[in-house]
Amino acid sequence: MQPNSFLPTFQSTQELEAHQLEGLKWTVNHAYNGSAEYRRKFDAAGVIPGDIIGLEDLKRLPFTTAEDLRDGYPFPLRCVPFEQIVRIHSSSGTTGKRKNLCYTQKDIEDWTHFFARCYEMAGLTTADRVQIAVGYGVWTAGVGFQSACERLGAMALPSGPGNVDLQCQFMHDMQSTVLCCTASMGLLMAEEVHRRGLADKIKIRKIIYGSERSSRSMRRKISDLFGGAELFDITGMTELYGPGTGIECPHHDCIHYWGDYYLVEILDPKTLEPVPEGEWGEMVVTTLRKEAVPLIRYRTRDITRIIPGTCTCGSLMPRHSRIMGRTDDMFIFRAVNIYPSHIDKILSEISDLGSEYQIHLSRDEAERGVMRIVVEMGQGVPSNAADRLGAGLQKTIKRELMVTAQAEIVAYGSLPRSERKSQRVFDTRIQDPII
Ligand code: ZN
Repeated sequence: MQPNSFLPTFQSTQELEAHQLEGLKWTVNHAYNGSAEYRRKFDAAGVIPGDIIGLEDLKRLPFTTAEDLRDGYPFPLRCVPFEQIVRIHSSSGTTGKRKNLCYTQKDIEDWTHFFARCYEMAGLTTADRVQIAVGYGVWTAGVGFQSACERLGAMALPSGPGNVDLQCQFMHDMQSTVLCCTASMGLLMAEEVHRRGLADKIKIRKIIYGSERSSRSMRRKISDLFGGAELFDITGMTELYGPGTGIECPHHDCIHYWGDYYLVEILDPKTLEPVPEGEWGEMVVTTLRKEAVPLIRYRTRDITRIIPGTCTCGSLMPRHSRIMGRTDDMFIFRAVNIYPSHIDKILSEISDLGSEYQIHLSRDEAERGVMRIVVEMGQGVPSNAADRLGAGLQKTIKRELMVTAQAEIVAYGSLPRSERKSQRVFDTRIQDPII
């Protein structure tokens, strides 16, 4: 452990659980007294803060969902006066109402602290030079990666997303030792490094990547092209502070999550009852210290499982698997959260396009993600309109969702119809098992 360590100091699971119970009691009181919405939910569930005696009472509490956050726009589930709010972040969904989240000074402090812990767990020290190639702006990524890097005392190189020439120049000239990015960006950079013959002129030894699922083969390729760099999957979501709520440990068989800041339940998404320990289900989180917008049993829609027992790395922090998928139809493409409803809305605004469509997500030979949208023309629209419609759709997708998609316009009636909900998303990006 470094002299100025961010790692938790709990000596036993019992000690951690006592800390969690105290945090749960505080959170329930704070939410009940701070927000009319939370109080309404508690009343409807017939529970008051005094009912929370032990951690097992968590299951008596009402759920919170993404809809609660959207309904309360622009300051949903706010539990402190505006004077205590020092920052707003927004989720990356780009169409419709954003999920805005408020932060107090302490929320920012806590987030920075446990994100610095992620860096420490990945073995970074003050000697590291961290190239931060993630999005800056209303998103939590850029500022999260940067503040924690500075808190750790390492050197932050905020290169931002994209801009391959600049990234290569930074890696070469500044001798960056760590690269933070999405998995797709990591792959893109790995190929560029290889193509430009830079592998033995640069010093990248660790890659911290998040916000997107990755296959084992993709991880291996990134590592190999970077001359054997070690990869760390980092987790997080805007609702729960941002990135840095957990990280793959140096033994690389799990994600350790920060159980002193939030609780994780794994529930069957249909019955909302707990699944047996170690089985896959929906991750539901409850914060223990979050002030501005505490989360109580927030349904993340992410599918994972708890890995029972303690890790061979020695950390007492609890563990879950890497995220396997979603319980809803949201998918992540190039770090952007996209719902088919976004595509519905875009298609409905282009005249001469039909409403039947499919989204195909795959990887090209270079393992880069590809999104192809197949859409029918409207009834009676002449077939020579296809090229114009395809070009228009690609432009609109780029503008609205900030990602590049291929558009394929097909004849009216050529896609399958279903009485039930049609399958819209066909994702073949990951074929190998998730740990
Ligand atoms: Zn571990």
